[in-house]
Amino acid sequence: MRIRQMVLLLTAVLLLSACSQTESTNSPAGTASGDTTAAQEQASQTTTGTEGNTSQGTEPATDAGSDNAPDAGSDNAPDASLDATTSKGSSANDGTGESSEATPITYRMNNNYDIVPIDEGTERKVVLLTFDDGPKDRAMITKMLDTLDKHQAKAIFFVNGYRVKENPELLQLIHERGQIIGNHSYDHIVLKNESETKVKQQIEDVQKLVQDTTGVTPVFFRPPHGAGGDVGRKVAKENGLLYMTWSNGSLDWTMKANHANNPETLIKNVMDQLHAGSNILMHELPWTAEALDKLLTQLEEKGYGFVDPRSIKLEN
Ligand SMILES: [Zn+2]
Repeated sequence: MRIRQMVLLLTAVLLLSACSQTESTNSPAGTASGDTTAAQEQASQTTTGTEGNTSQGTEPATDAGSDNAPDAGSDNAPDASLDATTSKGSSANDGTGESSEATPITYRMNNNYDIVPIDEGTERKVVLLTFDDGPKDRAMITKMLDTLDKHQAKAIFFVNGYRVKENPELLQLIHERGQIIGNHSYDHIVLKNESETKVKQQIEDVQKLVQDTTGVTPVFFRPPHGAGGDVGRKVAKENGLLYMTWSNGSLDWTMKANHANNPETLIKNVMDQLHAGSNILMHELPWTAEALDKLLTQLEEKGYGFVDPRSIKLEN
């Protein structure tokens, strides 16, 4: 008994000593490895989040990166018939059944996606303001809405369905503040290589969601990345949507966060490409919201007005 007790005691002492040695030896390494694990966890959480966004096709930078002018250019051809359409025959908005305001139809879109007068005597020096990829952030949207109001300007907010699903109250805000909501597809995927079934779902789900949220069905469609293809045009037309890309890209989507000169660069980009009827592509981004007041002021100083999207003829 006594020997057994001693053995036990000895074992206990040895174990204790071993443990404390292990602790003291491994402590720094253990802590470091613990930190690494935490960092790795954080990293993997970020990655997962990013992946999630990517699968939805949207991280602003990603999305914007492909929203480039060459896409728009390459997607231009099928629109060649636009200019051939008669400039007469208005009341374009009647087809959708929800346009209660009687805004005279005085403009149409040409095959360069410029907004041009239907009749001589209508002001040529106008621009169309558009903001894609929202609705995301109340403060940013409010700032943009306030600036638009200050300049008595109307714009099209091309929204994505999944964003509306996340922020229905922001869509409602845009609508209640009198701005126009356009369809930018549900998931912000490249549509031109998708099946017609898929494209229909991407476009029509947004039509329904916006209708359910605001009571108004969009009449303008802009394909993500400027690439809707023939099927995108067809489905848009079937839904009474005017298909457009843009003719003056602000390049706000190529800008990296926290660059102090983003607003100035944005303004310069737009002013450098400025022409009558410019269909200006911008996004719901912080530097765009920041640049907007100055941009609109400079456009006004150059004698440009802001076309009311509701005055644009919808049929091609
Ligand atoms: Zn977009």
